[in-house]
Amino acid sequence: MLITVVTIFPEMFPGALAFSLPGKALGKLWDLQIVNIRDFAKDRHNTVDDTPYGGGAGMVMKADVVDAALTHALSIYDGAPGKPEIIFMTPRGTVFSDDVAREISGNKNGMIILCGRYEGVDQRVVDYWKEQHGMREISIGDYVLFGGELPAMVVIDACLRFVPGIMGNATSTEDESFTAGLLEYPQYTKPAIWRERAVPDVLLSGNHGEISSWRVAQSQEITRQNRPDLWEQYVEQ
Ligand code: SAM
Repeated sequence: MLITVVTIFPEMFPGALAFSLPGKALGKLWDLQIVNIRDFAKDRHNTVDDTPYGGGAGMVMKADVVDAALTHALSIYDGAPGKPEIIFMTPRGTVFSDDVAREISGNKNGMIILCGRYEGVDQRVVDYWKEQHGMREISIGDYVLFGGELPAMVVIDACLRFVPGIMGNATSTEDESFTAGLLEYPQYTKPAIWRERAVPDVLLSGNHGEISSWRVAQSQEITRQNRPDLWEQYVEQ
């Protein structure tokens, strides 16, 4: 899977993605290309932003510069059998989820992720790429960060978990929070007693049926307590 990040801070990548399983698989099961938006600036100062029409605080990334960077990013996929996913990280997007990660990672042609900075990107380039190339707007949650690079890493990390071969144990993604609409049950490891706290007896019983029932009950209880929204969907299924 080829992932291309379009950013004004290329040095931020691969960053956290160079570690652990994603890092081991980088260059083997997935590849990362970085497109520096500044390389597509049109003036000798390499300007990528300007003041907002209508006034207001901050700067806005220029439509022509971002468009040229995205066009270059898309050209990297020339010759691929289909189009990559094109994603703009923005707090105004639909909220990222496990389901969206599965869907995006299913595109064998990979993905392009545009990272905004400042007050964001000129709306015309967003609208154009949505209309012409099906660009998606994705938020990682209801808060505002300084830029789209950390959100891009979150999306890439979550998607890589669904790329075959990257997870050490192929069943691990099947047994985690959100997979069955529930949060995961509690996990324990050795020692069996720590600070006078014992691991639940059932986990030491060797009875796989009982362990499985206990885990489902725990998942249900944790979801009911911590995520009433998920619980409501789960009981309505
Ligand atoms: N003015 C924008 C607004 O209020 O919606 C926020 C701009 S933010 C300071 C700069 C960039 O950070 C955004 O263009 C986006 O790429 C990224 N960003 C910030 N928060 C994000 C979030 N929750 N999800 C995804 N991207 C985010």
